[in-house]
Amino acid sequence: MQTHDTETPKKKAVALLSGGLDSNLAVRIMREQGVDVEAVSIKTPFCDFDCGRGCGHNLKEVASDLGIKLKTIYLGEEYLKMVKNPKYGYGSGMNPCIDCRAMMYKSAKAHMDEIGADFLITGEVLSQRPMSQNKRALQIIERTAEIEGKVVRPLSAGNLPPSDPEIFGLIKRENLYSISGRSRKEQLKLAKRYGINDPPNAAGGCLLTDRSFSNRLKDLITKCDRDMTLNDVELLKVGRHFRLSNTAKLIVGRNEEENEIVTGLTMSNDLLLEAIEYKGPVGMIRGSDPQSVLTTAAAIVLRYSDAPKICTSTVRIYTGTQILFSIDSVPCEESLLDNLRI
Ligand code: SF4
Repeated sequence: MQTHDTETPKKKAVALLSGGLDSNLAVRIMREQGVDVEAVSIKTPFCDFDCGRGCGHNLKEVASDLGIKLKTIYLGEEYLKMVKNPKYGYGSGMNPCIDCRAMMYKSAKAHMDEIGADFLITGEVLSQRPMSQNKRALQIIERTAEIEGKVVRPLSAGNLPPSDPEIFGLIKRENLYSISGRSRKEQLKLAKRYGINDPPNAAGGCLLTDRSFSNRLKDLITKCDRDMTLNDVELLKVGRHFRLSNTAKLIVGRNEEENEIVTGLTMSNDLLLEAIEYKGPVGMIRGSDPQSVLTTAAAIVLRYSDAPKICTSTVRIYTGTQILFSIDSVPCEESLLDNLRI
């Protein structure tokens, strides 16, 4: 903790900004105490930028509204490694919230060191999220990120042990709040007080808490015989997924846009499939020994095409660069889809 001359109190902090209401309020509360705030926003490969639920799609506007600098930090491969084997386990989906928050704190701390900030501000509210916002978890997260005592949670500070900035008089504990639990009543009152019109809904947007996405990710982690890549994760976000064997799965685009994404994500070992005579989706087989599942994959791709359900049609098999061969099949039965769907 830096010492501060009482006449020139230089109080600088980094805020973890999520785009939701709570971190927005946390910044405002700290600025009222004369703290000079800069923000960091952390993006992971599992942020759902299209969810439109306060998950960061409007972060630039929030930062500019607050009049603070914003730095965006992307966590990539190192985040994937953590998700595969989180020290503190998963929540109700594949969300490793404690390990995830520790990584976020670490990144924010690096920015604090860079700009000479005294402490970190977060919008965390005690008991709002079961896994990562209880006292024990908050302690673990601080300790893991080596930032113990230097995290201020202005919305819940009254319920938590005093942080160093409170102890050393950088900020006044009595002007912080004691909110806890999942109700947003107090935050909405504060939003009104600060003139925040149309406050965003509770922040969402992490695919790791989504049940069907978590099923796909679990399948990937347990069946993939190599480290998962960012490309693998992008592929989990589109199409219908079918587990065809222990080593191979099929992804089928649901519309034109997804067909393009699936094609764009093709790696050299992937096989693409498409009906030749009829309009239909692009399918991709990813995994080892794709030949062993070709017939099933072709039948599924035809099932989603305009091909007649009881006749044989032809499916072209190709890679990203060349047409390999074609096979004939009839569209599969609905029950097969249900059995194989991930
Ligand atoms: S919900 Fe997702 S982004 Fe949020 S802490 Fe958990 S794993 Fe991290």
